[in-house]
Amino acid sequence: MDSQRTLRRQVSCAGIGLHSGHKVTLTLRPAPANSGIRFRRTDLSGLEIEATINNLASIQYATGLAQNEGSVETVEHLLAALVSLGIDNVVVELNYPEVPIMDGSAAPFVYLIHEAGIRPLPVPKRFLRIIRPVEFVRGDKRIAIYPSDHFKVTYSISYDHPLLRHQARTMTIDEPAFIEQIAPARTFTFLKEVELLRQHGFALGGSLENAVVVGETGVLNNPLRFEDEFVRHKILDAIGDMALLGFPVIGHLVAHRGGHALHTAFAAKIMDQRDAWELVEEPLLPALPVPATAPFGSRVASRR
Ligand SMILES: [Zn+2]
Repeated sequence: MDSQRTLRRQVSCAGIGLHSGHKVTLTLRPAPANSGIRFRRTDLSGLEIEATINNLASIQYATGLAQNEGSVETVEHLLAALVSLGIDNVVVELNYPEVPIMDGSAAPFVYLIHEAGIRPLPVPKRFLRIIRPVEFVRGDKRIAIYPSDHFKVTYSISYDHPLLRHQARTMTIDEPAFIEQIAPARTFTFLKEVELLRQHGFALGGSLENAVVVGETGVLNNPLRFEDEFVRHKILDAIGDMALLGFPVIGHLVAHRGGHALHTAFAAKIMDQRDAWELVEEPLLPALPVPATAPFGSRVASRR
């Protein structure tokens, strides 16, 4: 049986908010068992916002949460790192309503968690195990989850752009796979969208330091970290959005052309379909019991 985990000690970093362009200080603090992941706004007298799908507030270009008159934006990369490194309980202090974008990936948060160290807590960890399929379609976007022995993600993307037509990947997401294969994949955007975003007051902190920018004839800030960095980042976003279920998921998530709106609407649907999942302390399904008599055993015996 796995134990719940928190951090060994508190740790801080500073960066800028992607959408606001503001400087933000982030501090991760150890938290007791069964307290979950909570954001705490130090600029609002310590007001707390729990990281659950019930507090979903905004999904434009990033995932935002709100509770008790407080809000926090761009939570997905940090949540992906926390859930993938098995951190069940932590307080995330922020002095501004946006998680810093860092380099646009989850790698700086993995580094921060490793700096803090991990402390097991004497309480069993719980997993959300999918026991029947759940599917969701919205136009040409599709997402589904199926029972599986592990947390696995299949993602495919396709764009009407000469440099990024189609990418697909399937991965079992355990801690080493996340750290090496997914966490370093950066946010990406298309050059023609950058101006549009800025006109609407988004991405004011965006730069070639925190996003892969795809121009008409090439990637502006090559080299890419992976040939298929784009689909890997989509997997990262989906892991972060699924973390809003509040427990590590045991199931196979399959998404096509998703984004935060699709991921979070789907997480809410899973939460609603109470017969589609169960909370368990053992991630693996127990072995099927051996039947007392094999179905065709007697017939086989009589033919001898
Ligand atoms: Zn992202």
